[in-house]
Amino acid sequence: MLPCEAAKTNFVPGQVAVLEMPGRKPSYLAFASAPEDEEYEFLVKQSDWTESIANGLFAAGAAAEVELSNIVGNGFPMENFAGRDLVFVAMGTGIAPLRSTLRHVFRRRNDFGKLIVLHGARTNKDFYFEEEIATDWRTHDVTLRQVISQPNEEWSGATGYVQSLLDNIVPELDNPVALICGSQEMMRQTKARLNELGFTDENILTNY
Ligand SMILES: Cc1cc2nc3c(=O)[nH]c(=O)nc-3n(C[C@H](O)[C@H](O)[C@H](O)COP(=O)(O)OP(=O)(O)OC[C@H]3O[C@@H](n4cnc5c(N)ncnc54)[C@H](O)[C@@H]3O)c2cc1C
Repeated sequence: MLPCEAAKTNFVPGQVAVLEMPGRKPSYLAFASAPEDEEYEFLVKQSDWTESIANGLFAAGAAAEVELSNIVGNGFPMENFAGRDLVFVAMGTGIAPLRSTLRHVFRRRNDFGKLIVLHGARTNKDFYFEEEIATDWRTHDVTLRQVISQPNEEWSGATGYVQSLLDNIVPELDNPVALICGSQEMMRQTKARLNELGFTDENILTNY
């Protein structure tokens, strides 16, 4: 997780920053912090692509200077969904824009119903925000379900892809909205499953 010092610019939770760094190709990283937070935070995974800003950040560490050149995507305009149950569905680092949105929702927690987070990762070592999950998420009554696709002997939970968790969760929700973040393929498959479970397209939101 990378905190950044910068003059604050407004954004909608779930939106994506276009970051530039000398010698690197511009990169898209979702804001992991909420618009109300004092600092920008990004969840950055080291990539195989050597020209990526992610790798530049790992190489330069705290001294890195990065320019925020644009903010893209619709994000999640949560004021439109007051009173609804929210089901967040994330693949891998897709948890970052959903964490931004959760932190925004926590500030107006009583405006929303149940908060359900479904997160899929490769292994049990690939989940993020453990400390916050044990504190803030618990305080704000978030139900978290995690699934991994490469199970090991330490894991006794669910295995497979994150969308497989929807079948048991969705029937318990009241007038829900789904917020999904992941690869194009994951979002397409998740939307299709949600449609089968009775969601109409306007109740399925993607940030980008
Ligand atoms: C707009 C945008 C914003 C981005 N923001 C960030 C960011 O903030 N931080 C960052 O590091 N990168 C970011 N990226 C890069 C991108 O999110 C990741 O490189 C890519 O999505 C892979 O994610 P991952 O490596 O975390 O997931 P993986 O570790 O590759 O996958 C996570 C889990 O999903 C499973 N999976 C694979 N296929 C599917 C499927 N079809 N359905 C469901 N589950 C599946 C995997 O098996 C695994 O269990 C961004 C990219 C874009 C385009």
